[in-house]
Amino acid sequence: MITENIEKLIKLQNIDIEILEKEEEINSLFQKEKEFNKKIEIEEKKIKEIKEELKKLQLDKKEKELEIKSYEEEVKNLNQKLDNVKTNKEYEALLIEIANFKKKISEIEEQLLILMEAEDEKIKKEKFIEEELKKVKEDVFKKMEEEKKKAEELKKEVSKKKQEREIYIKEIPSSDYLLYEKIRKTKKDNIAIAKVEDGVCSGCNMSLPTYIVEMVKKKEKVVQCENCSRILY
Ligand SMILES: [Zn+2]
Repeated sequence: MITENIEKLIKLQNIDIEILEKEEEINSLFQKEKEFNKKIEIEEKKIKEIKEELKKLQLDKKEKELEIKSYEEEVKNLNQKLDNVKTNKEYEALLIEIANFKKKISEIEEQLLILMEAEDEKIKKEKFIEEELKKVKEDVFKKMEEEKKKAEELKKEVSKKKQEREIYIKEIPSSDYLLYEKIRKTKKDNIAIAKVEDGVCSGCNMSLPTYIVEMVKKKEKVVQCENCSRILY
C-alpha cells in the first residue's frame, strides 16, 4: 500500500472517530434523560405511598369518630333513663354503665388523637416531598432543555460529518475502503488501522514479527496485524 492511501485511511479513521465520539455523547445525553426521569419517578412513588397511608389514616379516624358518636348516643339514652328509675340499685347500675361508656369514649378519643398527630405528620411529609419534587422537576426541565439543544447540535454535526465522509470515501481505492470497513465493523473501538510502535501493534499491543514490521516499512502493500487484523502503518 502506498503512503498516500494509508494517509487517506488515517484521515477516514479520524472522521469515524469524530462521528463515534459525537454519537456516544448523544447517547449519554439520552442516558441522562433516563436518569432524570427515574429521579422524578422515585419522588412520585413516595408521594403516592403517603397519599395511600393518609387515606387509610383518615378512614381509621372516621371509624373512631363514628364509634364515639354511637357511645355518646348510648350515654345520652342512659342519662334519660336515670330520670325514670325507681330503685337505688337500678340507679347505681345505670351509673356504672354510663361510666363504662364514658371510659370507652375517652379511650377512643386518645386513639383518635394519636391518629390525628400521625395525620399531621404525614401531611407535612407529603408537602415536603411535593416541594422537593417541584424543585427536581424544575431542575430536570431546565437541564433537559439544555441537553436537548446540545443533542440537536450534535446530531447536525454528525450528519455533516457523515456527508463529509461520503464524499471523502470516493477518494479512497475501493478495495482499501472495503477492507477498512470490514475490519472496523468487527472492532469495539471502531479502529481499523494501527500504528506500529517499537515493533508492537498499537491496536492490540502484540509484538509483531520482524518480517511484518519490515513489510510495513516498505509500504508496498496492505499489511495487517496477524493478531487483530488491523491495517498497519
Ligand atoms: Zn494488532
